[in-house]
Amino acid sequence: MIPRVIFLICTCLLLLPRASSQEWQEIRGPGVVVETRARYVKLAMNLVRDFGKRVEEVQKHLGISPPAMITIIIGHDARDLSSRLDIHLRPWVAGVAVKSRHRIGLNAESMRPPLSMPAAVVLRHELTHLAIGEHQGPEQRSPLWLEEGVCQWVGGTAYLGIKADFLSRLNFDDLIPWKELSEHFPADRRSATLAYLQSFSFVEFLAWKKGSRFLLDLLDTTAGGVSVHEAFLRLTGKAQVDLEKEWVEYEKRRSIRMLYLIQVVSPLSIGAILVILAFRRRKRLSRALMKRMEEEEATRTGIWTGGDSHGLLGEDSNA
Ligand SMILES: [Zn+2]
Repeated sequence: MIPRVIFLICTCLLLLPRASSQEWQEIRGPGVVVETRARYVKLAMNLVRDFGKRVEEVQKHLGISPPAMITIIIGHDARDLSSRLDIHLRPWVAGVAVKSRHRIGLNAESMRPPLSMPAAVVLRHELTHLAIGEHQGPEQRSPLWLEEGVCQWVGGTAYLGIKADFLSRLNFDDLIPWKELSEHFPADRRSATLAYLQSFSFVEFLAWKKGSRFLLDLLDTTAGGVSVHEAFLRLTGKAQVDLEKEWVEYEKRRSIRMLYLIQVVSPLSIGAILVILAFRRRKRLSRALMKRMEEEEATRTGIWTGGDSHGLLGEDSNA
């Protein structure tokens, strides 16, 4: 009887933390409510603590603000989020913004290894979607690649792993046609990542060349039903295709600079720098040693000739 009771207690103890981590908890802060699985309470508290900062970052980049009250939902994975938000999500999504309901979903799985997406990056990205929705109104929509590019530009990109693939496609003129990205992104993770990177790269170039105000103008013009091609002509006097050529050149020049940098910091160069540093340190040490020896020599000379060392002199004299 006693072993059976012990077994039951042990089983309950094992199951208790599991059951409690499945529960939903609510944490509130200024302008935000976070509904989270109990396991991510610490993450939720950090998000609430820094929420004002994230909003300010979006405002600083685009000059627009997300809705005054937002609900963030932190789920275990995409499936968990899908059922909580009642929308279908692809398994690889890190976050989602539901503009009409002022809601953001965060996928806790994507914030753990191997992806380890920073929560601040995902939240900034989704807050930018909500800010654009609030600015344009629920009926308006810009091309998806443009909005995603802007959200990544504000949020900060975390797709460095696939950058080489993107650059080789850029060099071989093998990019995804923009038209294919105006409504949907590819379903598989790798192609979708490439689509995000391509969108981000072009938007980043536009921000660098024309400034952040231009991005907002482009979003507004296209959301009003004007084609991207026409919007570029109206706002810059240039055709999209010409701006794309400039963008490709800009990225190529940047990748050459990056390659040069990588070469400069190659293991061989690092080794050479370490040898030089070691040599300089050795030289410095030997100089310090020489100085010390000279000082000691001077002191010793003082001992033999100076008036303060009678004892030793006398001793020597006696000998
Ligand atoms: Zn997005």
